[in-house]
Amino acid sequence: MKKFLKWTGLSVLVLLLVAAVLFFVYLYPFMQKMKETTVLPYDQNLTLVMGGGGNSGILSSDSMVLVIDSKMDKASEELYQLAKEIAGTRPIVLINTHIHPDHVSGNNLYKGCRIIAGANYSKAQWINDAGENNLPNEWLKDSMVFKMDDEIVHVYNMGKNIHSESDVVVYFSSRKILFAGDLVLNKQAPVIMGVASPAAYLETFDFLKSKFDVKVLVPGHGSMGDVETINVFKQYFLDMKEASVNADKKSELISKYEDWNQVPFLMSPGATVSAFQKFQH
Ligand SMILES: [Zn+2]
Repeated sequence: MKKFLKWTGLSVLVLLLVAAVLFFVYLYPFMQKMKETTVLPYDQNLTLVMGGGGNSGILSSDSMVLVIDSKMDKASEELYQLAKEIAGTRPIVLINTHIHPDHVSGNNLYKGCRIIAGANYSKAQWINDAGENNLPNEWLKDSMVFKMDDEIVHVYNMGKNIHSESDVVVYFSSRKILFAGDLVLNKQAPVIMGVASPAAYLETFDFLKSKFDVKVLVPGHGSMGDVETINVFKQYFLDMKEASVNADKKSELISKYEDWNQVPFLMSPGATVSAFQKFQH
């Protein structure tokens, strides 16, 4: 009995130590880096605000200002202030690419604004995952279009479980810019949890490329890219799928992505391989 207690105690200690190392070596620096924002003036009417949670865009026209994703923590307030400054007296319309807190935690700042999100979430789920004060007030079933001076903005609900229950992408058809939310990331491993499906991800990339003529891609996380960013992310999924069934090639395939932003077990090549394996069973 004494021996058993000793080993149990030791195991707990080792586990705690591993958890602490994972937190301080990977998760904490990642979270700190995630909080940094970069403001990128794209042209006279479009400003990109990268980081601080999910990447965002602010597009203005004569009659309104459109904001994509409201970020998290302090970055939410900075984004809101910038949007307010740009908008002046014009109304702001906020679009959420999906329910995750790094994309919607600033929703509560947009009082009196239209806040639009995909309709496949339940209200209860939103309250549970992102907070009642961050609830959208318009639920998008299929798609909608905003005519904003020379720009035509297409807001499109993917309508099935991919990264979440109701991923929304936003496409500026004059500028040929796609805001992909977390369906496409640039040099960052995805979080695949809950209803997220690696197989559905794999179907998404060709769909996006065939539906939208993408010149510039704004990923959910990572720097601005282009259509090649979609191809690279697709290749990542193909490689992880292969690694999930081919043990001999697994470490070689995973090592291709060692310079990507990642957190072990949570968002990493290994975690994507596990997601594929879970899906196969
Ligand atoms: Zn995200």
